[in-house]
Amino acid sequence: MSGRPTLRGASTALFSTWYMVEQWGVMFDCGDGASAALMHKARKVRHLFLSHADRDHVAGLLAYQQLYGGPGLTIHYPKDSGSFPALADFCRRFDPWIEGTRWRGLDDGERVDIGRGLSVVARENSHIRGVRPGLKSLSYFVERSVRKLRPALRGMPGAEIAALRAARGEDAVTVERRGLALAYSADTGVLTDGRYDGADVLIHEATFIDRDDSSEGDPARFRHSVLEDVLAMAAAARPGHLVLGHFSGRYDAARIEGAVREGCARHGLEGPVSLVLPGTVSHDILARTL
Ligand SMILES: [Zn+2]
Repeated sequence: MSGRPTLRGASTALFSTWYMVEQWGVMFDCGDGASAALMHKARKVRHLFLSHADRDHVAGLLAYQQLYGGPGLTIHYPKDSGSFPALADFCRRFDPWIEGTRWRGLDDGERVDIGRGLSVVARENSHIRGVRPGLKSLSYFVERSVRKLRPALRGMPGAEIAALRAARGEDAVTVERRGLALAYSADTGVLTDGRYDGADVLIHEATFIDRDDSSEGDPARFRHSVLEDVLAMAAAARPGHLVLGHFSGRYDAARIEGAVREGCARHGLEGPVSLVLPGTVSHDILARTL
């Protein structure tokens, strides 16, 4: 990773989830207390990516939009979620002097350019899929575009490469490669289709430590993850840094830390792991590891 991003956030199941990356001007979800914790740092957010309309992920929107809305802010959301157009309409009536905030519904696979060679791809997850019709829950993937020298040109002197570039353009000299700078699962069951493979940073929810606390077999309930399944997936996906959050408030810090340590050891997960513990706010999540 070129320079560790500063990841701020809070995430407790049922109460509030938000994550913000200052250098990239992005925030994922906007739970209660986001702008109170970020204060003027929240001004740096140009793109707000909302995963779904559960209150613990959107309850901070009214305050956020009133403080920092305007033409510089785009709020992205799952395209079939009717709650967001309703919220946009309410914000326009409630704070009519805040003008110009863009609200944009995203489809599965849609890509948003956020500048600095980065783009964010929306992908449907399993939180609401099959429980309600339409696309109503998204995960987000921050991809970094880098251009690499074509393998056939390795060893060619710099002056010749420059001449080739001048004569035939950049594509003759380099190919675009995309790297996954950050993946944010949002609320979802664990997905093992390779979508998180090799992410520099993977933020994944781990609502339940005890499988018996989950309702994973109930087709009428929104899906969440069990820690054991997250760790098994992460052992295969091999993220550069694993961030676990959205734990249920029924577990205390010692219980969570113990379960994560034990599971990481058992699955051979040796990379850095950071925890976002219930009821806490962190202003540099990646700096503190287990
Ligand atoms: Zn949630």
